Amino acid sequence: MTRFLPVSNPDFMPPEHLRAIQEQRFLRTVHHVYRNVPWYRDKMRDHGVSIDEIRSLDDISKLPFIVKTDLRDTYPFGMFAVPMSEIVRLHASSGTTGKPIVVSYTQSDLDVWKRVVARALASFGVNNGDTLQNSFGYGLFTGGLGLHGGGEKHGVSVIPISGGNTERQIMLMRDFHATVISCTPSYFIHLMDKAREMGIKIADLSLRIGVFGAEPWTDEMRKRIESEAGIKAYDIYGLTEIVGPGVGAECTEQAGPHIFEDHFYPEIIDPDTLQPLPDGEFGELVFTTLSKKAMPLLRYRTRDITRIIPERCACGRTLRRIARISHRSDDMFIVRGVNVFPGQIESALLTLEGTLPNYQIILTRDNGLDNIEVQVELVPEKFDDTLKSLEALQKTISDKIQHTIGIRVKVKLVEPNRIPKSEGKAKRVVDQRNL
Ligand code: ADP
Ligand code: ZN
Repeated sequence: MTRFLPVSNPDFMPPEHLRAIQEQRFLRTVHHVYRNVPWYRDKMRDHGVSIDEIRSLDDISKLPFIVKTDLRDTYPFGMFAVPMSEIVRLHASSGTTGKPIVVSYTQSDLDVWKRVVARALASFGVNNGDTLQNSFGYGLFTGGLGLHGGGEKHGVSVIPISGGNTERQIMLMRDFHATVISCTPSYFIHLMDKAREMGIKIADLSLRIGVFGAEPWTDEMRKRIESEAGIKAYDIYGLTEIVGPGVGAECTEQAGPHIFEDHFYPEIIDPDTLQPLPDGEFGELVFTTLSKKAMPLLRYRTRDITRIIPERCACGRTLRRIARISHRSDDMFIVRGVNVFPGQIESALLTLEGTLPNYQIILTRDNGLDNIEVQVELVPEKFDDTLKSLEALQKTISDKIQHTIGIRVKVKLVEPNRIPKSEGKAKRVVDQRNL
């Protein structure tokens, strides 16, 4: 095996060092799960691959994939690779798309998690003089404790406020001089709305950086947030199954999250043929954990659609980047035979003046015909406009969406606060079709 020198900052490792670390950790992980998790032994046997065939990272393509239902089938502890006595933390996925999935961490797993989140914060330009208002939910959801641990590790002052109680959030943000906030982008929009109602301008407070993730958000949404709140908004990516937030994070170039590949090895596959795709091509993101002990995963299919960006980032990090996740394959809905993603509608909506970044997509079926209604909140001043000008805006939005997705949608303009707000992930699509 190649020998490599220790490097001080893993984000900037020479690619051959990174590869050597990945290879060593990969082989260790395969043997660890093979020895300790009967499920993997059965799975590899059924797939016709023997452990002796896995000799280098290139052999990864011989391994079977893991999908979400595998984790449900082994609920709750069937994938654990260490005895319970070594497990110090349990989390569960938020269950946006079904029953929760249980994950576990050893002490060293928690340490890796804290370090990747600390590296994420460092790459956003957060430092130990900062105060982090952590408005991700605390609990089984990984967002809250993930940012909490990484924040402390990085040396910032963490305010563990969790989600909700929005007025108090704004009061503390002002009184504690929070300089960084972490939450879902949709919750931050809600926070901005609330601040406006309270007569407080977030741009006048000390906040300078937003750490946003856990749900897709478009660049149009980023522009809205940055200009209204006077902050830089950065993307943090992660999923419970792999570790939680901190699988990847943008740098100040804002050019797609770098993946912390020394711990999480990414592949892109064609979701239909399951064949690996070269860097640059769009497909489904798949991860193999390289350092986890309690619950390593080999080739886990995330259902997130993206591509690996082949070009080196201007920041000098050698870690590869992915294009920001614009959608997950389970978010897609089909209307009149057309595949639509909420992000396409969001992009079309948010380029127009007069609307707030709060919207919801309602799907109904009338005599066998599908209808989409897009409800979008208007800025309060718009309500004084004439009916004629509102009708014109409605038509402009509808045209713009039709131009993007190819089908006509009904647009309903509603007053601020009409669309239900969530403290965590936003619910963008309400499907009332009983399919
Ligand atoms: P659930 O699957 O129940 O939502 P998680 O909380 O683990 O559980 O969510 C992980 C998923 O959230 C990811 O697979 C991805 O679809 C989405 N996600 C997380 N971070 C981002 C991000 N920065 N941009 C887009 N989507 C994200
Ligand atoms: Zn970069």
